[in-house]
Amino acid sequence: METRAWVWNGALVPELTSLPLPELREFDVLVKIRAIGICATDLHIMERKVSFAEPPYALGHEAAGEVVKLGAGVTRVGIGDRCTLDPSIGCGRCSACLTGNKHQCAQNREYGLNRSGFWQEYVVISENNVYLLPESVGYDAASQCETIHVCLGGMDKIQLRAGERAIIVGDGPTGLFFARLCKLQGASQVTVAGSRRKRLELARAYGADEVVNIRERDLLSAVEAQSYDVVIEAVGKAETIQLAQKLVANRGRILLFGLPEHKVEIDVMDLILREITCIGSANAPQVWSRVVDLLAAKRINVEPMITDRYPYEQLDQAIACAFAGGQERIKVVVENNE
Ligand SMILES: [Zn+2]
Ligand SMILES: [Zn+2]
Repeated sequence: METRAWVWNGALVPELTSLPLPELREFDVLVKIRAIGICATDLHIMERKVSFAEPPYALGHEAAGEVVKLGAGVTRVGIGDRCTLDPSIGCGRCSACLTGNKHQCAQNREYGLNRSGFWQEYVVISENNVYLLPESVGYDAASQCETIHVCLGGMDKIQLRAGERAIIVGDGPTGLFFARLCKLQGASQVTVAGSRRKRLELARAYGADEVVNIRERDLLSAVEAQSYDVVIEAVGKAETIQLAQKLVANRGRILLFGLPEHKVEIDVMDLILREITCIGSANAPQVWSRVVDLLAAKRINVEPMITDRYPYEQLDQAIACAFAGGQERIKVVVENNE
């Protein structure tokens, strides 16, 4: 069997072609992709900023879809089930996999990052990577489970306590989801620093008490330095990582989440004397079912995040739209309703 697929050939525009689909193994399912989130990581791959990516393959690691065929041993899901997909695959046997950290498995592969991903019309995937959706959660919103899951994993690591002060540096989709999660977890103050008006408005709607547009105000004069128990760095630039250190209170914690392209210099003496903890967070395969539960319980409203929608046949235009960026755009989603 073949599937239509948008394949990245190394250019900034993907190409609609067809790819062979592997046979279903015992515990695999065939999923028709219904919604795809376009992520900044996809754009970075296409811009050749990511070392692991070798074209040609279909990108896409954020998706939701419908189960259409089952391998002989599949028991957890059925035909017609609506689902979101965890793109990460481990060996299932090593200590990383067995402790819920398959992203650190030596054999880890990820759909859309280092193997063909969800820009295909159909994908073959293990039932272990499938999380069922209740009727109340749309495919479009569910395409964002992957984004939310990395944020929730970061929240688990930083262990925000009710009443603490938190600031998020960065107004990308992850920065906005972090703001929502900090609010849900009872922070007494949630501040979001960013540069795009529409995103900062959504940060407010997600419960941020204060937003600072760094195009209009210098962050360190707008907020109190060294006053935040938790600082979430969701940009990944040297300046913003250094800024995070200036914002964190004595004995506070910094969540390092944004991916820097280069090595970053930090003031280690300051970390020691002020007893600051820096925590890195990349992925969190253990949290997926909680993400679905958060959406089902309407604790996170994804809809206002999705500013642009394209049909599957126009995925190339969706990519161009995401590359164009701009003040009014947050998340671009590709839908296949056929
Ligand atoms: Zn992503
Ligand atoms: Zn493993």
